[in-house]
Amino acid sequence: MTTHLMNTYARQPLAFVRGEGAWLWDEAGKRYLDAVAGVAVNGLGHGHPGLVKAIAEQAAAVIHTSNLYRVPRQEELADRLCALSRMDRVFFCNSGCEANEAAIKLARLYGHGKGIEVPTIIVMEKAFHGRTMATLTATGSRKIQAGFEPLLTGFARVPYNDIEAVRQVAEHNKSVVAVLLEVVQGEGGINLLAPDYLAEMRKICDAQGWLLMLDEVQTGIGRTGTWFGFQHSGVVPDVMALAKGLGSGVPIGACLARGAAAEVFKPGNHGSTFGGNPLACAAALATLDAIESEGLLQNAGVRGEAIRAGLREALAGVHGVVEIRGEGMMIGVELDRPCGELVGVARDAGVLINVTAERVIRLVPPLIYGDAEVSVLVDAVSSIVRNYLQQAA
Ligand SMILES: *Cc1c(COP(=O)(O)O)cnc(C)c1O
Repeated sequence: MTTHLMNTYARQPLAFVRGEGAWLWDEAGKRYLDAVAGVAVNGLGHGHPGLVKAIAEQAAAVIHTSNLYRVPRQEELADRLCALSRMDRVFFCNSGCEANEAAIKLARLYGHGKGIEVPTIIVMEKAFHGRTMATLTATGSRKIQAGFEPLLTGFARVPYNDIEAVRQVAEHNKSVVAVLLEVVQGEGGINLLAPDYLAEMRKICDAQGWLLMLDEVQTGIGRTGTWFGFQHSGVVPDVMALAKGLGSGVPIGACLARGAAAEVFKPGNHGSTFGGNPLACAAALATLDAIESEGLLQNAGVRGEAIRAGLREALAGVHGVVEIRGEGMMIGVELDRPCGELVGVARDAGVLINVTAERVIRLVPPLIYGDAEVSVLVDAVSSIVRNYLQQAA
């Protein structure tokens, strides 16, 4: 292993050389069932023919031209995303943190436009919004912030899923301009909102003139069984950040906005050299096409529920399993103790899983799972968890 890479990741000691559908092969030819999907990115799995063809054709035509010129693929993708989400305008970037960064800048500019001198954004405990200075400030984890002070000002933090705490801030802090949250917290441990939370939040935002900004970087593009996580609630946000699943692995992020929020940015306010280039947009368009034509929203809903039901049945009564929860193909198995070592145990058994928030097994498989993959995953994860809890007891 080279020492010429900065030491930013605790990498697992293997590399994949080939993938097909929900399966990956390592350098030694061993096969793994993928329940990580490049951290909720590869919704179509690996080697999807429609995606590969679209990327190859676009690469041969033109890869990048910059935003000095019109980019027809970008316009087409913006139209598609707005039609699916009921948003009005899109800014394209290259990652999740950049999509949130755009949302934060948009909210601040919106606030200044209303004469608010120190615009404040309400953010959540256990949130994850990225690793740039603004987004790590918005993130609700000391581990991610420590050592990078001074952090930014202009954020107020409340507990996740606590609408009363938001009402308290509304009463006392007149500089608030927006709320930023994940509809299901991913890195924070697959934490769900109460069913009426977003509707209540929408009411508060409307009454206060705040922007409701959703970080759908992980939940967006079919992950939870609908195009966007907010669509389970019937509430429409003012601003939404997308990235992970959008390009199926070709880097692309997007900040979408609706109504007044969509008119905030003017030429010169924001930009990105690579953002929304023809190659990335072609990958995103092919992703949307495949999700539509292959019924992957419905599949994500059905298979995700089957995985949760299978795990609940297999782990019923097992002491140490706190909760099995999730929405669509975003699944958390919370244990009563740290379980990071299960990643390696599962890998040896030929299954790729992730552990987040120390005690939560996170399963974010490709949206294309069939019956066979569901049962391999349920069997492997349940037996690994059972062995681990029994052995430690
Ligand atoms: C992954 C993630 C991000 C950061 O995305 P990057 O592409 O790594 O910058 C932001 N928000 C959420 C909810 C995420 O899951």
